[in-house]
Amino acid sequence: MLSLKNISKRYKNGSSQVTILNNISLEVEAGEFVSIMGPSGSGKSTLLNIIGMLDQPSDGFHYFLDEPVHQLKEKQRSALYKKNIGFVFQAYHLIDELNVYENIETPLLYHDVKSSERKALVADMLDRFQIVGKKDLFPSQLSGGQQQLVGIARALIVKPKLLLADEPTGNLNSKQGEEIMQLFSKLNKEEGMTIIQVTHSEKNAAYGTRIINLLDGTIASSQQI
Ligand code: ADP
Ligand code: ADP
Repeated sequence: MLSLKNISKRYKNGSSQVTILNNISLEVEAGEFVSIMGPSGSGKSTLLNIIGMLDQPSDGFHYFLDEPVHQLKEKQRSALYKKNIGFVFQAYHLIDELNVYENIETPLLYHDVKSSERKALVADMLDRFQIVGKKDLFPSQLSGGQQQLVGIARALIVKPKLLLADEPTGNLNSKQGEEIMQLFSKLNKEEGMTIIQVTHSEKNAAYGTRIINLLDGTIASSQQI
């Protein structure tokens, strides 16, 4: 499903260059549930953003669903993203001007889904995440945990082939966090959804099928679990 070959990411810092990712190669098969771990600053979010086509590598080859992402134009990347990827952002990235209902509905507008079906799908998400009572509120009126749930609902509503999640339970209480991990595990096992998450939690990582450890922008280890 995903193949990264010799991916590097560098930033200019004045006259010097900082290397964030150094020659990363990684294959992820459909049906895997990968947890990316590693110390702060090791490049986890940068790697996830590149996989999600939200950031571009300085060099290397990136294939997703057999498409050569490194050769695609912005518009084609965006279309590939919208069709196949759900992204749960660490900082939520909800649209401030839209209410909870509309935020969750947004990805459906890029798919060919009828209005009546959109309503049913959003209602199902509101129900599943127990946020029906919040549907008319705006992001600024929600707690961090509630915003995180809305972000997860929005990522899942199109049943993405690939779900990317950056610390998806970082702002949830432990019970909610466990429920989300159980949901991810179920989507992975029962619906074959491919998942890649960034997490600091050993417990969350253990829900997956493989753990990758990043260190200073390189893959220090990768083990099946
Ligand atoms: P992690 O998710 O493992 O904490 P990140 O991928 O967020 O790591 O960041 C890795 C390093 O890259 C950090 O040192 C961060 O400061 C740096 N970094 C991230 N984005 C930029 C940027 N736009 N310009 C310069 N440095 C950046
Ligand atoms: P359209 O066809 O223009 O999308 P609909 O006939 O579907 O409009 O009208 C219902 C619309 O109301 C929903 O699609 C949704 O965008 C919007 N809506 C906004 N906020 C809410 C809310 N809190 N509860 C229900 N519907 C909402």
